[in-house]
Amino acid sequence: DDQRQKPHAILIPYPLQGHVIPAVHLAVKLASRGFTVTFLNTHSVHHQISRAHHNDPTDDIFAAVRRQRSLDIRYSTLSDGLPLSFDRSLHHDQFMASLLHVFSAHVEEAVGRIVGSPDSRRVRFLVADTFFVWPSTVARKFGLAYVSFWTEPALVFSLYYHMDLLRINGHFDCQSANCRDDPIDYIPGIKAIEPKDMASYLQDTDTSSVCHQIISSSFKDVKSADFIICNTVEELEPETISALKAVQPFYSIGPIVPEGASKGTVATSLWAESDCTQWLNTRPRGSVLYVSFGSYAHTSRADLAEIAHGLRLSGVSFVWVMRPDIVSSEEADPLPDGYKDSLGGGSIIVTWCSQFEVLAHAAVGGFLTHCGWNSIIESMWNGVPLICFPLLTDQFTNRKLVVHDWKAGINLTERREITREEVAEKVRRLMNGDSGGLFRDNIREVKKKLAGALMPDGSSVRNMDQFVNDLTNKIDQRGSGTGG
Ligand code: UDP
Repeated sequence: DDQRQKPHAILIPYPLQGHVIPAVHLAVKLASRGFTVTFLNTHSVHHQISRAHHNDPTDDIFAAVRRQRSLDIRYSTLSDGLPLSFDRSLHHDQFMASLLHVFSAHVEEAVGRIVGSPDSRRVRFLVADTFFVWPSTVARKFGLAYVSFWTEPALVFSLYYHMDLLRINGHFDCQSANCRDDPIDYIPGIKAIEPKDMASYLQDTDTSSVCHQIISSSFKDVKSADFIICNTVEELEPETISALKAVQPFYSIGPIVPEGASKGTVATSLWAESDCTQWLNTRPRGSVLYVSFGSYAHTSRADLAEIAHGLRLSGVSFVWVMRPDIVSSEEADPLPDGYKDSLGGGSIIVTWCSQFEVLAHAAVGGFLTHCGWNSIIESMWNGVPLICFPLLTDQFTNRKLVVHDWKAGINLTERREITREEVAEKVRRLMNGDSGGLFRDNIREVKKKLAGALMPDGSSVRNMDQFVNDLTNKIDQRGSGTGG
């Protein structure tokens, strides 16, 4: 019957750019498999997307997809607990505190409304970002299966998941004199990893911040998830994934990239995109370096100045995404005086772009990145080698995968301070040197694994089939009163 065929999911992304993008594509994937999906964005993310794309604020971001392919994706918004005018980038800790303490009440209200609406008797599962602290409570309250959505590599998941093991062994949350700095070699499925390659939060000596509380609560919560789906590929992290599968139902379904129905139809950017294509069309193949530090990380004014000078020194053309809040929302132009004018059209600086399109452009031959996981996946998918400049959170671990495991890029610096000479040298090495070619060969291997995973018999397609099957069984069991 209808109830069996089309279970209804409520999908709630973490309200940050790097989480919203893969969640949108996941919603389309699930709907393409016949599920009904209600996507819940925060008011704030919704308004930022509307403003960036000059949409009517009453617009539903899935309208175009729904028109093109009769997919059953619904869309609704809810409060994150803060007024719309609140500057979430400038007051990041308050924003996180609201997500930790206040958001769940809004979620319960919104989920209750959807579950209780007359056409929604089929709501059967909740898909929520792993970093939320409330999914198991909300799922239990409304009798839903709980699917945790992890948007970073399995390696990062596993390190957080085994936080207690790190603590017992003196690699996390230790009094500085007692902290070990030798490699971590006792986590199932992880070959020895250096402490410096852990997520920044696991390296911090002060573990009392809001973000630490979020990580610690959310990773307790995820242990009662019915299913975990992850934006990675089995062939990229086989041992880590198989160890995780031994403890909880864990499905690698990546790479989540714009494809199929979601390609070009759903607006996901929180800032207005500049068109770089026209400019890129005038540049030789593989000659342009793309530079971006993502949607969220901040860098120091001093580092930014060295990068700016280093890029110019390298003589390589670049497209640089410079968010207005890259240094701090309060300060004026973070670039050295007269810098933009000095580029004279040989390179361009934009506030935001369609990154996936830029990376797919033939003129782009390298990416200086902060190592956000989406950026890495998108770069690998398009065969673009990387210069890694991690700033916080999982970016250090992601760099380790790129530089150490896949040899698909280089590290910007081994030291704390970056210098313009080093920036110029690394850029030249990636873009002109012989090693650039070697990276490209290695990336071709990674790219093959990513593409292979999405082929009809590929690992991620099979995992997705398995997930849908296991989930449907679980829902059926619950429906007949035999499940938990
Ligand atoms: N992005 C974009 N335009 C830009 C910069 C970034 O569309 O100018 C997208 C990028 O393609 C990626 C996301 O924003 O999908 C950033 O996610 P990531 O995990 O790389 O970094 P985060 O922003 O979460 O630190």
